Amino acid sequence: MFRLPVSKIDVELRHATGAEDMLLLEGSGDVVETSIALVERLARRADGGALDAAALPVPDVEALLLEMRRRWYGDVIASRGRCPAEECGAATDVSFRISEYVAHRRIRMPANVEPLHEASWFQLMGTAVQFRLVTAGDVAAAVQSTNPERELARRTIRSESAQAFRRTHYKAQKAMEALAPPLSGEIEGRCPECGTAARFWFDAQSYVQREMRYEAEFLYHDVHLLAGRYHWSEEKILSLPSGRRVQYAEMALRGAGGN
Ligand SMILES: [Zn+2]
Repeated sequence: MFRLPVSKIDVELRHATGAEDMLLLEGSGDVVETSIALVERLARRADGGALDAAALPVPDVEALLLEMRRRWYGDVIASRGRCPAEECGAATDVSFRISEYVAHRRIRMPANVEPLHEASWFQLMGTAVQFRLVTAGDVAAAVQSTNPERELARRTIRSESAQAFRRTHYKAQKAMEALAPPLSGEIEGRCPECGTAARFWFDAQSYVQREMRYEAEFLYHDVHLLAGRYHWSEEKILSLPSGRRVQYAEMALRGAGGN
């Protein structure tokens, strides 16, 4: 079981199959849409209900993808880079543990914010500005618009006038970050040679999807091999957990080599 950090919903995860591999290889390519589809396929509420992934705050979707990554490929994320100091340029690996990274994001209710009776909306006290947390569905819709940032604000911040909005929307955004700390951002490490700070931008959704796509890379090959060897249908092969499919494919390949 896994508890979503912001919405506190308990979820169960299941293993990815070839169907999810196919989604990664042939899906729309939009990162947030792909995350929503993956979460809806692979996670369900522990109480048995369906999980509405588009309605989840973005950090919950990020946390779920990182949890999948932690369970399937391990806890440590390592990024290989070069020291930014021109005269140095040594290999600088920045690594961190997903478990610690997620646990360090502390959710806090800012003193100038109070929840409204209307579910998921908040009031910025002393102002007429109200807001709610940005969901994965908001981001997926905003990237389709001509001005994503404005579209996100339009969907999640309410104020009585444009003037009030301009004055306070920064405060509303700060409050959102306190209530739902993002899991994408700058990661900092030190060059082992000269000690210069090396930074890189970590985008949780893109990172996990890219890794899953690497793992899915041999899907067509596996289907071709297993269909030929065992006369299984494409549908049956795609329904296998990905790890098991890869095992069978390796065995079929070894068998073929031995004959
Ligand atoms: Zn250096």
